[in-house]
Amino acid sequence: MTIPNLTRAKIEENTSSGSFDRGQEYLANGAVRSIQRTDEHTLKAQVQGGDVHPYLVTITFDADDIQSVQCTCPYHGGSWCKHIVAVLLKTLKQEEIPVAKPARLNNLVEDLSRTEIIALLKRLVQRDPQILDEIRNERPEIVDGGDAPRR
Ligand SMILES: [Zn+2]
Repeated sequence: MTIPNLTRAKIEENTSSGSFDRGQEYLANGAVRSIQRTDEHTLKAQVQGGDVHPYLVTITFDADDIQSVQCTCPYHGGSWCKHIVAVLLKTLKQEEIPVAKPARLNNLVEDLSRTEIIALLKRLVQRDPQILDEIRNERPEIVDGGDAPRR
């Protein structure tokens, strides 16, 4: 369990019976797309609702309890909406969710085109000229100011 002291009963207390039932249906239908723990005390989840784009649910908690819940859906009934209910129910069924690592460099750059990579390198060199030395080390055959090697 990721959120301390969370129980099914506590979720029911904070929502309407309608939202609780709908939340259970959402969970059963796989509407909870992803749950990520972005830091020690924050969970972010995407829930597919009636809209094309999923709603984003953000839950913060401390060592004892939930601190805040938020959902980007239009529901403002004063209690937790069905998306929040679905996410919380899901956390009850899961092992503790580890804090997500930031996206890896590989994932970030592997789809870039050659042109994009060159533009990115130029910007990086502008910001930090030492990067140019790194690149030079990769290409020792190319000498600055001299003639390019003949073929
Ligand atoms: Zn919602």
